[in-house]
Amino acid sequence: MSSANSMSLFFSEKFKSLVPYTPGEQPKNREYVKLNTNESPFSPSPRAVKYAAEAVREANLYPDPDSTELVGRLSALLGTNKECLTVTNGSDEILNFAFMAYCDTSHHAVFPDITYGFYKVFAKINNVPYEEIPLSDDFKINLGDYIAVNKTVFIANPNAPTGIALSPIDIEKIVASNPDNVVIIDEAYVDFGAESCIPLTKKYKNLLVTGTFSKSRSLAGARLGFGVACPEIINDINTLRYSTNPYNINRMTMAAALGAIEDEDYTRKNLKSIIENRAFAKGELLSLGFTVTDSAANFLFARHPDVDGGTLYSELKRRGVLVRHFDGERISDYVRITVGTREQMEILIEKIKEILTLARLK
Ligand code: PMP
Repeated sequence: MSSANSMSLFFSEKFKSLVPYTPGEQPKNREYVKLNTNESPFSPSPRAVKYAAEAVREANLYPDPDSTELVGRLSALLGTNKECLTVTNGSDEILNFAFMAYCDTSHHAVFPDITYGFYKVFAKINNVPYEEIPLSDDFKINLGDYIAVNKTVFIANPNAPTGIALSPIDIEKIVASNPDNVVIIDEAYVDFGAESCIPLTKKYKNLLVTGTFSKSRSLAGARLGFGVACPEIINDINTLRYSTNPYNINRMTMAAALGAIEDEDYTRKNLKSIIENRAFAKGELLSLGFTVTDSAANFLFARHPDVDGGTLYSELKRRGVLVRHFDGERISDYVRITVGTREQMEILIEKIKEILTLARLK
């Protein structure tokens, strides 16, 4: 990314103070045990790879702007109707559409102070006033803060980077108490141990649930997100989609996603491994004296009393393990560690033991 002071003379006034979202590092200079961007450590399903390779042969033709086949198959998998689903270029795209569609000066956005960092950027680029509600000291969402809040609510469930989830029963209370605003539930990590709110979209006209193939379906590089809601909300999103980029899902991604959907057993097997590896890594971290949040996602959020988050991040990086460190006021003591393979988790723990031993010698 270019830095803010290298902007041209021509950059619109309205974007001059925009601070872009900072994605996790994708270094090319060295092979890392890469536990910093919540990707899957497993390759896409072989069927996804095969279908995508076949699809490139027809890449001279534009893709289907309605992703008809994909929407049909995905809606069946998610237990909804095709009128209640739309697909986007990663779930980041539908989250941006939600800020565009449902927030303005009379519908402010609201989200937790500690959550997915992109929400704030989406609010700013769309010139939307927003409020951040502090999580409790143990990083939980206080349900009462969102009851009848009368703003457009964005909640990642499980939340990031904490991994802590709310139950659909609690989310229903938020949705039911804000009938004049849309509630957006970002389920990027739901498959790793939380319960989906998709069934609630049949009951409420003001609920949009977003999801992604980036995590549990190993397709972060293909960029496929989706949204489930009542047909009217889906039409709103499609209006914005058609007004920005009707061909937002390319042929290879569409084909890869169909392969992944057909290979649900592969997804389930990988989910089982990640959940087991999360339990293993969490147990090891706890026994080393870490505090670890109760994560229902494919990452752990952890801190150690003897080593601050920034030091842990850089010492791990020196040893070939990449994790994510956030500078935020309340979370700078923590690191977020993506759950990878058992072997990757063993390397992580071994390197952490080394770092803690050195810290104690000091
Ligand atoms: N929501 C949350 C909470 C995330 O962490 C991410 C991944 N960075 C996304 C949405 C977006 O993921 P994608 O665009 O790959 O679907």
